[in-house]
Amino acid sequence: MQFDSILTVLQEIAPLEYAESWDNVGLLAGHRGRSISSVMTCLTLTSTTLQEAIDERAELIVCHHPIPFKPLSKITSDTTTGKLLLDAIEAGVAIYSPHTAWDNAQTGINQQLAEMIGLTSIKPLQVFSLPKSIDETVGVGRYGIASGSKDSIGKLLQRIQATIPSIEPRHTHRLEHLVSKIGIVCGSGGSMLALVASRGCDAMLTGEATYHQCLEAESLGIAMIMIGHHASESFAMKSLSSQLQAKMPSLRVVSSQREVSRF
Ligand SMILES: [Zn+2]
Repeated sequence: MQFDSILTVLQEIAPLEYAESWDNVGLLAGHRGRSISSVMTCLTLTSTTLQEAIDERAELIVCHHPIPFKPLSKITSDTTTGKLLLDAIEAGVAIYSPHTAWDNAQTGINQQLAEMIGLTSIKPLQVFSLPKSIDETVGVGRYGIASGSKDSIGKLLQRIQATIPSIEPRHTHRLEHLVSKIGIVCGSGGSMLALVASRGCDAMLTGEATYHQCLEAESLGIAMIMIGHHASESFAMKSLSSQLQAKMPSLRVVSSQREVSRF
């Protein structure tokens, strides 16, 4: 399979123009001319997931979190990032990251989380301004109305556990607390509290938020529900793998089985 055809399909699923301007997305290391027969998806490139990709004979890792993320002036084994990049390149494993393009995409992480907890009237928290997109179904985060117009925090968490059984959630307010309009920001979403508040939400579901962001949420009357950074995103790397496999049946696509995290 030609590398470029795989990149084209990845960009159909998560168009790179949907990524935030500060992000570093797309092909981050690799020879575009190479032929690829096997791909592995994972949340983060680590020594564990790299070794798994090598064992799976994957020539391309699609990892949600970009590596490198910030510009590097040296690539040496003196740093964790440098060592991972060197090891991947020496093993012939290319690296692609969709990151915020996948967070924001039409079938991306935030949309999947919103559907998972049964929201209706789902919309982006912030629609992209032109020329990024004229499609009002894509944008930053999501928000929507709880099923039956009100739901308890406990009920929302039960629905998530149907898909992500291992979560160890943390939340402000009690489990019986009822909420109706819920903002969704996967990963480290605490910094998006003001955007969630601007949409009139009374709850926010995210991966992680700081103590002070939780206090701010409480003062705004917003219930903060945190399911863990890994849990809020890693399920979607499995669904990305399925979407890629469905569009490219002759390609071998696997998602990481060894990547686990409780935070
Ligand atoms: Zn993340």
